[in-house]
Amino acid sequence: MEHYGAVVIGAGSGGLTVAVGLANLGRRVALIEKHYVGGDCTNVGCIPSKTLIHEASHRARNGHDERDGAAILAHVQHKRDHLRDEETQAFSKVANLDLIFGRATILGPQRVAVTSNDGSSHTLEADQIVIATGSRPRVAAIPGLPAERALTNETLFEQQVPPRHLAILGAGVIAMEMASAFRKLGSEVTLLVRGKGLLGKYAPEVGHAIAESMAAQGIRIYYGAQAQRYDADSSTLHITTREGPLALHGIDRVLFAVGRERNLQGLGLDAAGVAFNEHKGIAVDAWGRSNVPNVWAVGDVTPTSHYTHSANAQGRRVVQRIAFPWLPALGNEPLYPHAIFSDPEVASVGLSPAQVERRYHPAAVMKLHVELKDTDRGYTEGLQHGFIQVYAVRLTGRILGATIVGPRAAEMISFWTLAMSQGITLYKLYRLVYPYPTHSSGIQKVADAFVRETLPHLPRELRTYLRYRWAKPPQPAHQLHGHAQHPA
Ligand SMILES: Cc1cc2nc3c(=O)[nH]c(=O)nc-3n(C[C@H](O)[C@H](O)[C@H](O)COP(=O)(O)OP(=O)(O)OC[C@H]3O[C@@H](n4cnc5c(N)ncnc54)[C@H](O)[C@@H]3O)c2cc1C
Repeated sequence: MEHYGAVVIGAGSGGLTVAVGLANLGRRVALIEKHYVGGDCTNVGCIPSKTLIHEASHRARNGHDERDGAAILAHVQHKRDHLRDEETQAFSKVANLDLIFGRATILGPQRVAVTSNDGSSHTLEADQIVIATGSRPRVAAIPGLPAERALTNETLFEQQVPPRHLAILGAGVIAMEMASAFRKLGSEVTLLVRGKGLLGKYAPEVGHAIAESMAAQGIRIYYGAQAQRYDADSSTLHITTREGPLALHGIDRVLFAVGRERNLQGLGLDAAGVAFNEHKGIAVDAWGRSNVPNVWAVGDVTPTSHYTHSANAQGRRVVQRIAFPWLPALGNEPLYPHAIFSDPEVASVGLSPAQVERRYHPAAVMKLHVELKDTDRGYTEGLQHGFIQVYAVRLTGRILGATIVGPRAAEMISFWTLAMSQGITLYKLYRLVYPYPTHSSGIQKVADAFVRETLPHLPRELRTYLRYRWAKPPQPAHQLHGHAQHPA
């Protein structure tokens, strides 16, 4: 039986980070992958989606782009395949790293079985096991919808031509990004949203801005919508909305973007005694260690990571803990910024408005909102949609959370991530000099608004701070009701 310092299951964003990190530090590592090196990000996620968004936006902006949608989809596939081949070759050559293709099953805290595609099987022994098996799209059945017309992110980028009319089920990141991208490729796009708004985890203003922009792009949105059945002969999707039943004609593809499920089944977590929850994933501490000391988890299988950058950050921490156990393991997980490459872009970091509401008394917090069209850069670019919204503790100016909607929001959010993680307050941002005219001068406007509201009223702000900073937030009406029904 082969013995390894670490066996890493899954060669996606998280697994690759750990495997290469440990191998580079001299550990003998087996990296087991059942499908493609690069995982979701390279093959069916970030890389094809961001290439498509870039190319489709270029085509929409540039009337001289003679490529049609089919040519752009072929280009996306080509770039994705090229990167996958490069990555596979590069990772096959890393010293101390054995890249093994096959399906891994954990047999116990130090044993992993690998079943190759030809059916042969062998067992590896490991000092450490790292689970990085990612997630897969959730799919809901629509009666009558033929399999080839039902798409997920795993099949979307394999299309040869853009759909004539794409119906997208969902109101989250993938739905927002793909709606605009396919609209720019020339598809009709209809968004079917179960709830009342888009991007429900963000501030309501974010959903409103994206909905307005989508309407301007010619994307139709139905709220309170549920797909009931599909008639393949007439390509009609029958739905219900809050207004009643509706028939959408000419729908030739349906994209399911209704959430993700973690890849935990058949992994043998029980055999190793690893605690997990179907919905939340594998329970790990702030450094990725599960309840079994030599079993770790990173990426989408954990409760806190939904992105490549967070999988990567978790992976780096696991490498540190395994390779340098004597280094102090202090503090919580770092801040993970979120980015949505919709049109306009959305990015956020820190507490969401709902989390602020749950943790702070409203009187202790200041909400600052600056429309980007009110900055000179926004004016010169004729911006219609976009803002910076920040929650900060009154008086101290400590930043609790920031959201940006607008051009290059995903780049600008790092500014707020840095400020929050280093304890840089709005007073310090007030004193910073921003190049003119830039979208980042919106940050100055946020800081200006805070200082204007605070310094001239210091006695009032101090009183409010002392009274409310540690006060419990009032309970929402439904919670009060719940307590009355179920006294503790
Ligand atoms: C359409 C889309 C767009 C996205 N865009 C972005 C973006 O722009 N930015 C961003 O940060 N994130 C983005 N994401 C999210 C990002 O792709 C994931 O968060 C990230 O890939 C998770 O990495 P991971 O290592 O946890 O899992 P994955 O990358 O999913 O890797 C898991 C790997 O494990 C393998 N595996 C599973 N089970 C086994 C087993 N039993 N044995 C062997 N191998 C196994 C799988 O084949 C897979 O290769 C996007 C996701 C999607 C779907």
